[in-house]
Amino acid sequence: MSTNNEKSPSEALKEQLFYKPKNATVTLDEAEIKAADEYCDGYKKFLNTAKTEREFVKAAIEMAEKKGFVPFDRNKKLKAGDKVYLNNRNKSLILAVIGSRHITDGVSIAAAHIDSPRLDLKPNPLYEDRNLAYFDTHYYGGIKKYQWTAMPLALHGVVALKDGRTIDVCIGEDETDPVFCVTDLLPHLASEQMKKSASEFIKGEDLNILIGSRPFKDDKGSELVKLNIMKILYERYGILESDFLSAELVAVPAYPARDVGLDRSMIGGYGHDDRVCAYPALTSILETENPAYTAITILADKEEIGSEGNTGMQSAFFKYFVADIAASFGEECRHVLSNSVCLSADVNVAYDPLYSDVVEIRNCAELNHGVALTKYTGSRGKVDTSDASAEFMAMIRKLMDDNNVLWQIGELGKVDVGGGGTVAKYIADLDVDTVDMGVPVLSMHSPFEVVSKLDVYMAHKAFATLFGRK
Ligand code: MN
Ligand code: MN
Repeated sequence: MSTNNEKSPSEALKEQLFYKPKNATVTLDEAEIKAADEYCDGYKKFLNTAKTEREFVKAAIEMAEKKGFVPFDRNKKLKAGDKVYLNNRNKSLILAVIGSRHITDGVSIAAAHIDSPRLDLKPNPLYEDRNLAYFDTHYYGGIKKYQWTAMPLALHGVVALKDGRTIDVCIGEDETDPVFCVTDLLPHLASEQMKKSASEFIKGEDLNILIGSRPFKDDKGSELVKLNIMKILYERYGILESDFLSAELVAVPAYPARDVGLDRSMIGGYGHDDRVCAYPALTSILETENPAYTAITILADKEEIGSEGNTGMQSAFFKYFVADIAASFGEECRHVLSNSVCLSADVNVAYDPLYSDVVEIRNCAELNHGVALTKYTGSRGKVDTSDASAEFMAMIRKLMDDNNVLWQIGELGKVDVGGGGTVAKYIADLDVDTVDMGVPVLSMHSPFEVVSKLDVYMAHKAFATLFGRK
């Protein structure tokens, strides 16, 4: 029997021939792990200041302007090295750094979304029932409704007034602020509720947020709790009840993002999907100087409800932007897009040992194995996906490997179990080579999603690598 460390013939051949995903925790050196942890400190801070698409756009513009980005002006001729941004209705944002190659060589795109599942207030939300005041909601995106009861909620958003002013609202984030909640039924009286299926025991129509209980002092009259709430809102914001009709107010978890685990290897928080990719797509373009190919980060709204509307990825606003860039060089938009490449930066499911039966381990992303490359999403026979080509997969594999980006393959669950989509197919529709690449997430779409710090850092490195290609 041999006692030395020589590999057996089968071990050596396996090493040569087999595909083996790498665990970042054992592969990366200490310096890179430290860099990842530091990068994630910035990410956590950002998560806490930008919980909605509007707050993301505002914070991103502040960061971009510090790095020399200026508002895009289609009447100003662009040149290599220019940094511009386009703010689409305060809800989506495009940032671009002009490259030295000719524009018809194509551009490099990182596309993420900045909306997350939450509870939206209805247009006429305020009501009183038995001396308790509520905001009525219509949930936004794919949620498990029972997860949104019995936890602190903060209120974010805007109220647009008829006089043209827009009032910013953010209540529940400061330690001294009040918070709100959806109440749940005590277990003592829940025997009927607990028999219902999880999709039914909290009804969408019952996701009503408790906002007050003290009446306006008057022994006559009705709806005095509601009146007292309206009085507080009028005094603080100058708004009337009718102003809710032109508002976008949303309830999101009120707590900040936190380190998870005794080893602090993970981050838990609200809305990693998709800020965990949008933030790296942002930071990587902010670092981009004088790229060969023009670099573009697009931060889209409305992905969670199908990328609809004029701030979603199905809108023409992105195409119009590329058309204006092309025109600045006397070229056609389609001649730019046809040669362009895109990493559709969205999250994927991370393998969870507690729910292992819904995924197939050989094709499921795992925490700490790097950013996940997802050839196709969709469901039930690859319906509703752009399915990246073999050639494009090869190009991305090589690019990432050559630049020491730790990545793994990902697939959204077992065949026929379910599925989902991303913005990838809308960008692919523009004749752009597109593939999904993003961070694996535990408890996706819950109010407390979990990601690995090393994977977040690898997402940043992946998008920086895309923008750095020669
Ligand atoms: Mn997403
Ligand atoms: Mn999502």
